[in-house]
Amino acid sequence: MTGIRLHDTQAREKRVFAPADAGRVTMYVCGPTVYNRAHIGNARPAVVFDVLARLLRHVYGETSLVYARNVTDVDDKIIEAARAEGVEPAVVTGRYEDFYLADMGALGVRPPDLAPKATDTVAEMVAMIARLIATGHAYEADGHVLFHVPSDPDYGALGRRDREAMIAGARVEVASYKKDPADFVLWKPSPDGVIGWDSPWGRGRPGWHIECSAMIERHLGTTIDIHGGGLDLIFPHHENEIAQSRCAHAGAPLARYWVHNGFLSMAGGEKMSKSLGNVVTVGELLEQGHQGETLRLALLSAHYRQPLEWSEALIQQSKATLDRLYRAAGDADPGEADAGVVEAVADDLNTPLALSRLAALDDPARLKASAVLLGLLEQESRSWFQGEGDARVDALVAARTEAKKARDFAEADRIRAELAAEGIVLEDTPAGTTWRRA
Ligand code: AMP
Ligand code: ZN
Repeated sequence: MTGIRLHDTQAREKRVFAPADAGRVTMYVCGPTVYNRAHIGNARPAVVFDVLARLLRHVYGETSLVYARNVTDVDDKIIEAARAEGVEPAVVTGRYEDFYLADMGALGVRPPDLAPKATDTVAEMVAMIARLIATGHAYEADGHVLFHVPSDPDYGALGRRDREAMIAGARVEVASYKKDPADFVLWKPSPDGVIGWDSPWGRGRPGWHIECSAMIERHLGTTIDIHGGGLDLIFPHHENEIAQSRCAHAGAPLARYWVHNGFLSMAGGEKMSKSLGNVVTVGELLEQGHQGETLRLALLSAHYRQPLEWSEALIQQSKATLDRLYRAAGDADPGEADAGVVEAVADDLNTPLALSRLAALDDPARLKASAVLLGLLEQESRSWFQGEGDARVDALVAARTEAKKARDFAEADRIRAELAAEGIVLEDTPAGTTWRRA
């Protein structure tokens, strides 16, 4: 059996991966907050953990992995977006969850086995919060329930930051009802007109961190094999998940391996983020005519723990690499995967090495089978070489659907006119919009 090594954030080193039960490997990755379109930085964890899921299935068997990625569908930013549109939060979250799945699908990301929603897990969150209160790890104050950080002597072990840095880094409001400035919210009150649920502490809604602890307990178990996410989630989100779960489970650890991806930045080295305004969305890149596989290869061109600078040159290089790989693979049926490629991916997802080994393969059947592990060469080569134009039209049609849902009819009409000028006719049916060349 191929030996997998993973860099574990908690151990700060590469460790040999050994699941607790090789017949049921468990992995949880923090998923999107669904109130806007994903940018290409948000796509990095989705693609990286998709590769890890493919590797685990390759090594342990197709059905031996249970991979869960949650959907955060209750959050202050969602409430704000829904209010601005004058709709219920579910309208916003339903729309952007669909977009997320479509965008990630375009990047060759297979849907996880489980995609639990926060709003479907409230009863489990309430039960866990009640247990934390009963065991002295949480307290009610001013309509809120807070986790009391000093009640957990091991708090902060994942990132090993000192207490002052954590308090400063969390940018948590210093509220008068907190016993300690580091305490964080498990439950908060919802005024009338704001989404909420009845609870022993009044009508309210959960804080963000508790949903992951409750979902992991419900769907995967007390201790999972792998927990993943972006580097920015180590603190406070993952420290808080660990504290909640460990304290609710009599000290049992939440995860045995912690895996975090590095940031994607724009030229100049600044992290791509909505708050900095330097984002390019997956939808925009597809509309520009890039194929999803090109974007996927670009995301995998650097090792996942390293920073990755996004640029037009990177996209062009990735496209040229895929043109070469598709020419070499032709229409071969997949054969046996190459041991060198598998070994590179198994060594803490060394995708740059895997890609260079892939490029050196001269047996088309072996090339095709090995590329599957990275989620590449998944189409017929003929459709790859035809695909550029079609991908752009598909993306424009999706953008028009989005505009119509947001009642921006001027934008919807502009897109229809742009496509009409290229001789592309749209047909709106109850099942969605189709297109053809006139
Ligand atoms: P957010 O919408 O900011 O909560 O991010 C959703 C996911 O995308 C989290 O796992 C983040 O760690 C990840 N993420 C956000 N921005 C970047 C970036 N520039 N590069 C890599 N990952 C990112
Ligand atoms: Zn989480």
